[in-house]
Amino acid sequence: MRLIVGSSSYPPQRIFCIGKNYAEHIKEMKGETPKSPIVFMKPPTSLVPDGESITFPKHGKILHHEVEIVILIGKDGRAESQEEAKSFMGGLSIGLDLTLRDIQEELSRKGLPWELSKSFDKSAAVGDFIPFKDDIDLGDIPFSCEVNGTIRQQGNSKDMIFPIKTLIVELSKVWELRTGDLIYTGTPSGVSGLKIGDKVEIKSPLIGRFYWEISE
Ligand code: ZN
Repeated sequence: MRLIVGSSSYPPQRIFCIGKNYAEHIKEMKGETPKSPIVFMKPPTSLVPDGESITFPKHGKILHHEVEIVILIGKDGRAESQEEAKSFMGGLSIGLDLTLRDIQEELSRKGLPWELSKSFDKSAAVGDFIPFKDDIDLGDIPFSCEVNGTIRQQGNSKDMIFPIKTLIVELSKVWELRTGDLIYTGTPSGVSGLKIGDKVEIKSPLIGRFYWEISE
């Protein structure tokens, strides 16, 4: 797939995902607040565009939705300051970091990597992007997730432990960023299980609304 940004489109590159970036979600998972961002990755082949179905993976039982603000990187290089970080913002969307929670808990218990629980096919649902503009307040983006018409998650970027520009600077210390990289910026509280046939809608007044159905 290509990432749609206004009237242009980009091939997706790497997908960086941030774990434990909202205090209330850390509480519900009984986790600890990290001192630096927790980063894991999904392959670009795991992306599912708006309107397609999300296949329930066969190797786990508890599939959680995690609604997140998604950043599209719009230029190559490293952001060395918060001010510079803004110039790397190519677009903004929202998406779902789909997670097999039973598998993740088992892997975490054994001290093993998270890929089987986080990086399977169709694990990264993403909406269309709005182009980033200077007057967008990155510190106040509301967003939510509904399942079958019932609100399950409500969040706002103001509650992030590591805000968007900080994430861009922190990732730049390890990776040279590329046009088409995505950053899933972490999920607020309210994560819960999905079943086959469920309809998931995510929305943000700034960005739009997007929709997926869980299929067999
Ligand atoms: Zn997540």
